[in-house]
Amino acid sequence: MMAAATELTVEGEIRCNEPMSRHTSWRVGGPAETFFVPASVDDLSYFLAELDADTPIFWHGVGSNLLVRDGGLPGVVISAAKALRNLERADDDSVTAGAGVPCTQLARQCIRWGLGPSEFFAGIPGTVGGALAMNAGAHGGETWERVASVRTIDRDGQVHRRKPADYAVAYRSVQGPDNEWFLEATFHFDADVTPSMEGMKTLLERRKTTQPLGLPSCGSVFRNPPGDYSARLIETAGLKGHRIGGAEVSTKHANFIVNRGDATASDIEALIEHVRLTVLEVHGVSLQHEVRIVGEALQ
Ligand SMILES: Cc1cc2nc3c(=O)[nH]c(=O)nc-3n(C[C@H](O)[C@H](O)[C@H](O)COP(=O)(O)OP(=O)(O)OC[C@H]3O[C@@H](n4cnc5c(N)ncnc54)[C@H](O)[C@@H]3O)c2cc1C
Repeated sequence: MMAAATELTVEGEIRCNEPMSRHTSWRVGGPAETFFVPASVDDLSYFLAELDADTPIFWHGVGSNLLVRDGGLPGVVISAAKALRNLERADDDSVTAGAGVPCTQLARQCIRWGLGPSEFFAGIPGTVGGALAMNAGAHGGETWERVASVRTIDRDGQVHRRKPADYAVAYRSVQGPDNEWFLEATFHFDADVTPSMEGMKTLLERRKTTQPLGLPSCGSVFRNPPGDYSARLIETAGLKGHRIGGAEVSTKHANFIVNRGDATASDIEALIEHVRLTVLEVHGVSLQHEVRIVGEALQ
């Protein structure tokens, strides 16, 4: 029998009207109708199998690439980051990491095991699941260059093992089977590349000098167009420091929009669109969002 999310008996936690501003790095966003934190994969599987087939599902990592509109998200937000924290060595040069493992933890553990190149994962302030969904990358490395296989779960709670060939992967873009989400990945590293904590720290220090890390943001708002940088196009269009409400184009890195403290999702979305239209007008380049914009506008 199918059931609405709040009627299900689960081991994990179900919260109603959970403000997504608590779960996004921009610190904005309206409520999730239902916010589910499963206790385990079995709990998640049971929940999905019993859930009403019409209920929208949105999967959440830690919200470091998400703009949730002020009206919030209908249906169920699944926040599995706490349940999927397994991290183990699969063999001499492979590691299996749960979708909830922070990328920084993956980087540090791989460095301890002497498996590289892995330092770049430390530059991604999200989860392994978010990195798989985004093909996140930093400092010349990309998530899917390292993927040997993934385990996924579908809307019916069935678990699958899949290969990279099952996905169309490109720069910050991953297309796979519909209605399936990542539970874990096995990453393959190069036996002859030795990573170092010093190398990782140098990369992180470089970020501190070039990115506005003290203010809420979601990292780069736009993907880089072929052969150019969005930050360069935005800066030369005169947009650094431009504000709408509490949202501001960072004066430190033009492809970042920061929340100066009182921004709404609507301020941020309006500023994103203003930047997009201005760059189109000035440079004739149509920038594509890297950030995922989801949910409903406030009525
Ligand atoms: C300061 C800062 C710097 C950043 N620098 C970089 C950078 O250098 N490189 C880079 O690539 N990104 C960067 N980002 C963006 C962000 O960290 C990455 O996109 C990251 O991979 C998002 O992970 P997340 O867990 O926060 O995912 P979320 O933001 O929660 O979700 C992002 C997308 O992934 C989907 N998703 C999440 N988990 C799963 C899952 N298990 N299965 C299926 N879909 C899932 C969501 O539905 C959503 O569509 C930065 C962000 C910030 C705030």
